[in-house]
Amino acid sequence: MALIVQKYGGTSVGTVERIEKVAERVMRWRAAGHDIVVVTSAMSGETNRLLGMAKGIDANATPRELDMLAATGEQVTIALLAIALQKRGQEARSYTGGQVRILTDDAHTKARIREIDTQRIRDDLRAGRVVVVAGFQGVDDDGNITTLGRGGSDTSGVALAAALKADECQIYTDVDGVYTTDPRVEPKARRLDKITFEEMLEMASLGSKVLQIRSVEFAGKYNVPLRVLSSFDEGAFEDHPGTLITYEENGMEEALISGIAFNRDEAQLTIKGVPDAPGVAYRILGPIADANIEVDMIVQNIGADGTTDMTFTVHRNDYSKAMDVLEGVAKDVGARQVAGLANIVKVSVVGVGMRSHAGIASTMFAALAREGINIHMISTSEIKISVVLDEKYLELAVRTLHEAFGLDKAA
Ligand code: ASP
Ligand code: MG
Repeated sequence: MALIVQKYGGTSVGTVERIEKVAERVMRWRAAGHDIVVVTSAMSGETNRLLGMAKGIDANATPRELDMLAATGEQVTIALLAIALQKRGQEARSYTGGQVRILTDDAHTKARIREIDTQRIRDDLRAGRVVVVAGFQGVDDDGNITTLGRGGSDTSGVALAAALKADECQIYTDVDGVYTTDPRVEPKARRLDKITFEEMLEMASLGSKVLQIRSVEFAGKYNVPLRVLSSFDEGAFEDHPGTLITYEENGMEEALISGIAFNRDEAQLTIKGVPDAPGVAYRILGPIADANIEVDMIVQNIGADGTTDMTFTVHRNDYSKAMDVLEGVAKDVGARQVAGLANIVKVSVVGVGMRSHAGIASTMFAALAREGINIHMISTSEIKISVVLDEKYLELAVRTLHEAFGLDKAA
């Protein structure tokens, strides 16, 4: 018997019929003898609908009231699910975040969880009840309702699993797991049976939007095994085990590379002929940061003749703003020239196997070279190699690398 926290996303509770399906799934896990805590999102589209109404009144509605409003979406689904469970003869109780006491800071619309009181949940479980908790929300010290940021129900699920020391946190969604890359780009992409927290973080931050990044960080920190699976697969769990996100184990089938991640919306800026002197990097990137522009990759050349070049990437939406700032900076520091490319993408190979294997980079570069794909920038971390390419090469690069690392073949 295990204690399992199951989180159901918006599409999984998107209609009353879907909620009844969730109830049936919970019944099957109960019948197998497990204790179940369920965390739900609002019905799909509901949070947007609610926030849209507020914006219709005032685009600058206060964050406190936005939280009060948005938190109602989850209150609907917890009650409906509890009712659906009770109809099936399963005792169940629903709780809002504030009732459980998911205590957060007071940063409305992006609050962080500080502490969870598990007493009430434990008492219910002991009495044989299924506990249904509203995702996405908590309460601050003064009793104000807070929310955890968009997609925050994932974090609610993981945080509850951590606080309850659950055996597993299952995230039910509309895809059946984490894939080696986006199947819309490479139809041969495969579902991964397992992936490590670190790899998942790299994949998630690079645009594989299966899970809220914070929930993965949280799960890694508290070592909560996390499983992504589909609530639309009706068959037995054994046939649809999803993807387990966990720590590296000895004997875990050693894939060299777990996936190919990519980021479409990048842009690249270069400042040339900058005096090669202490403080120049700061004088260039300081004003960019002050303009609230996030910088991703940064490359500075080895200086020659007392000057150097620097290139960095930003989100494409920030491109023209960054260019304006950089042109100003160029005058200030006496740089020769400013240049940019608005249509670039980042493609990365991710895998913990890189730590112990040489030659991943050369395999990657050889594959791209064979296709005549020019690389603008390269950056590496312990478990990731990223290249910046022209946007037109994105699909080709992803497919080429997917094949080069044998990701289309069953492990
Ligand atoms: N309902 C919230 C949202 O749409 C939280 C969630 O679904 O995770 O962002
Ligand atoms: Mg979600």
